[in-house]
Amino acid sequence: MVRHSSRIELSQSSLKGNINFLRKKIGSDTRVSLVVKANAYGHGISAYVPMAEKCGIDHFSVASSHEAEMVLKVCKPETRIMIMGILYEEDLEWAINHGIEFYVYNLQRLESVCKLARNLDHKARIHLEVETGANRTGVAKKEFSKCLTMLKKCRDFIELEGLCTHFAGAETFANDFKIQKQFHRFKEYYASCKKRGVMPKMRHLASSAAALSFAKSRFEMVRIGVAQYGFWPSPDVYYHHLNETNKRSEKGLRRIFSWKTDVMDVRFVDEGEFIGYGTAYQALRNMKVAVLPLGYSNGYPRGLSNRGQVLIRGKKAPITGLINMNLFMVDITHIPGVEVGDEVVLIGRQGNNQIGVASFTQTTQLRNQEMMSRLPAAIPRVAVR
Ligand SMILES: *Cc1c(COP(=O)(O)O)cnc(C)c1O
Repeated sequence: MVRHSSRIELSQSSLKGNINFLRKKIGSDTRVSLVVKANAYGHGISAYVPMAEKCGIDHFSVASSHEAEMVLKVCKPETRIMIMGILYEEDLEWAINHGIEFYVYNLQRLESVCKLARNLDHKARIHLEVETGANRTGVAKKEFSKCLTMLKKCRDFIELEGLCTHFAGAETFANDFKIQKQFHRFKEYYASCKKRGVMPKMRHLASSAAALSFAKSRFEMVRIGVAQYGFWPSPDVYYHHLNETNKRSEKGLRRIFSWKTDVMDVRFVDEGEFIGYGTAYQALRNMKVAVLPLGYSNGYPRGLSNRGQVLIRGKKAPITGLINMNLFMVDITHIPGVEVGDEVVLIGRQGNNQIGVASFTQTTQLRNQEMMSRLPAAIPRVAVR
């Protein structure tokens, strides 16, 4: 196979550290489901899932049946997969037959699952999602009683794995009034379940932010997304943690991925010449630049034109001119000895220097999750120590 223009390395030891940190924080009574939607937030499902399994994880959450299929291809037979979002009617049979867990978010879906599971003579593993205030997906309050009746009727064909909902904005503490209301409503649904004798095996509503800062919301399972990859969901959650633990800083969560490429060409530019398209960058002195073989089509944000930097030979090399579709140039006038083929760090550490995702996202206004999840699936991901 020929070489790709960049590569992503995933650190097994950083992942292990993150999982240990989260386990300790969350407690051993709560199951941890790792959210690996959006190609594991850009980390790459195929490489990432087996790494997480090595850390003892046995439950993964995804947004679609397509992603569930990707996890299924690489996971251990006993690992559980849960679809939180889209599962088309025509793929229900596939999900039930493969023991995939999935959200049921309205009454119609519950009816069709019940019918199908009976025909297949195979138990469907469902999580009943309830509407608590996000007004996104979830069974409405006035449909809930009918759902419970149906669940009772279909008891032999449906395994009620969970009762769940999603906090809309737990990472921002100013939303607390809303989060508390959602929490209260969720407990009411659970009380109805109890009253009617339809008991879910687990309750789950917390994503990273709530799992880290709202202990009461952890219940039997949490769905951890961004934190597993080494990012605090927000400054609110980070400072809450420092306050709670009486610490000045916390290194328990570390970035797992590094993104690298190599120098494609080294060239000299005379004073007064322009580098790349248009007049975005004019050389004000004789310069030496390195050409890099990737651009915005490879997930490198165009917003970093004339602003970002990369690491070459352990030194920072500022971007000169616009990020092109498949190329960009950096200033290496101050870095001696750069050669074609030298390693270039786009995100990660080299020597004593480091470029984090935050330095990307601050200049481009992208969220960490947005930047990472846009990294093309075609970039190869490799596990490293
Ligand atoms: C994405 C997602 C999560 C994980 O969110 P993080 O903030 O990344 O931890 C949890 N639950 C649902 C329903 C989601 O869509």
